[in-house]
Amino acid sequence: MSESRMSPDNPSRPVSVSDVDSWHETVDVLIVGYGAAGACAAIEAAEAGADTLVLERASGGGGTTALAGGVVYLGGGTRVQKACGFDDSPVEMLRYLEASTPNPDPEKFRLYAEGSVMHFDWLVSQGVPFKDSLHEERVIQPANDDCLFWSGNEKSWPYREIAVPAPRGHKVQGEGDAGSVLFARLDEAAKRAGVRVRCDSRVLKLVLDEGGAVVGLIAHQDGEDRAFRARGGVLLCAGGFAMNEAMLQRHLSRLVGRVTPIGNPYDDGAGLRLGMSARGAGIHLNEYHITVPFYPPESLTFGILVNGQGQRFIAEDAYHGRIGEAASQQLMGTVYLIVDEPIFGRPIIEGFEIAAVEQSVDGLERALSLPEGSLQKTVDLFNHYAEMGEDPVLHKQPAWLRPLKEAPFAAFDCSFGKAPYMAFSLGGLWTKPTGEVLTEDGEAIEGLFAAGRSCCGVSRSAEGYVSGTSIGDATFFGRLAGRTAAARRTKVDR
Ligand SMILES: Cc1cc2nc3c(=O)[nH]c(=O)nc-3n(C[C@H](O)[C@H](O)[C@H](O)COP(=O)(O)OP(=O)(O)OC[C@H]3O[C@@H](n4cnc5c(N)ncnc54)[C@H](O)[C@@H]3O)c2cc1C
Repeated sequence: MSESRMSPDNPSRPVSVSDVDSWHETVDVLIVGYGAAGACAAIEAAEAGADTLVLERASGGGGTTALAGGVVYLGGGTRVQKACGFDDSPVEMLRYLEASTPNPDPEKFRLYAEGSVMHFDWLVSQGVPFKDSLHEERVIQPANDDCLFWSGNEKSWPYREIAVPAPRGHKVQGEGDAGSVLFARLDEAAKRAGVRVRCDSRVLKLVLDEGGAVVGLIAHQDGEDRAFRARGGVLLCAGGFAMNEAMLQRHLSRLVGRVTPIGNPYDDGAGLRLGMSARGAGIHLNEYHITVPFYPPESLTFGILVNGQGQRFIAEDAYHGRIGEAASQQLMGTVYLIVDEPIFGRPIIEGFEIAAVEQSVDGLERALSLPEGSLQKTVDLFNHYAEMGEDPVLHKQPAWLRPLKEAPFAAFDCSFGKAPYMAFSLGGLWTKPTGEVLTEDGEAIEGLFAAGRSCCGVSRSAEGYVSGTSIGDATFFGRLAGRTAAARRTKVDR
């Protein structure tokens, strides 16, 4: 095979099976990438009796999953929800998920909501620990080993009127970030199930037969390019593309230079590009999760967010991702968080500069060069209704309403491009809930599956993203894809 065809940075060109001289190994199910999606797919495939091999580019598994907070979005009445006194149902969970995103995938959303309790139980059965505790404070995620917390917009308007609110963020038990705990437990479970994992194995190309079916792949391993054959299928679980600058420029250019892309260094879109090489369609490639984590401390939620016109634009009790998206859309990206003395506190995440401190709102308005009278009017209106426990403009919950009237007044600069904004990609391959990768025409590609951020899942829009849906969806649909690929091996030539 020529050098250019094997270029690792060009996984978008497949190899024909007729160009493969010999197979290094033949297995039932080949999994590309060993994060949450890959591990769960592997466990299910192996438990279904498939000879399962995972190829992982890094020297160890975990990917972005192991760097993550370890929050899994689950509901419908999990053990932890019940223990903490919450009465949730799959119907309410589905209502919330569907309302929160402009582009839901009805079948994936339904399966996810209906199967959520069973998925929680499955994770527990694999050894993943969740403590029966509620974290009441408003946080990005619990810093201690608490489990349940409000990880989305469930209590914010208009969602609280559409679906009965329930906390569904389930953080894996562990102090601080617990993605590593989650991955360690899944890794142990995979090994118990008989999954073989080969690290330092970068998948470069897919191998297609004459009819376009995926029959294997080429990976760089032990200093050489090797061909692996899959009887049941190849599963792309190689993460998203937050670390691929060219892809960010092409699909998410509004973020470039203004946000910090987050993920593991190998989030370079290989999964998506490999899938596209076999005619897989990429969908919602311009969607992302963006966050501007100005809280905790939760007292800052009592403040108001205003744009460069001195106007509020979102209820401050919304999820930090929804706020991040709305803030990033303001004219010139200008956004300030206005607080008064009793609620003042430094954001735990560093990088939020204090733009001004003044003894009056009027003085703050001048210091920020906002249009004359604009901030004063906004604060007066907000205070007028806050005294009555109301927010008829943006419907912030009464629990977070309190007039801003005690000097000094301060403004934190939350502007897009200045404050700490972080993002990762949500778009990916178009898949059925079973993980089968679809072409632009909606045809399933024989032998090709995807899960996790290599495909577009439950988490699929900046405004609707909720903490825990990425790992939630990667683990849930990874399992389904693993089972489907394992079942397929019995139908093809062994
Ligand atoms: C700081 C941070 C915190 C987060 N916290 C949460 C959270 O609490 N809850 C939540 O739901 N989401 C969270 N997310 C998002 C979430 O972690 C990821 O979207 C999710 O873990 C992706 O899982 P995955 O299995 O698709 O990919 P990954 O876990 O990234 O696994 C992909 C694997 O594929 C490998 N790979 C890549 N290319 C190749 C190749 N060519 N050949 C072989 N292997 C390859 C990679 O090395 C990697 O190990 C967070 C993200 C970040 C960055």
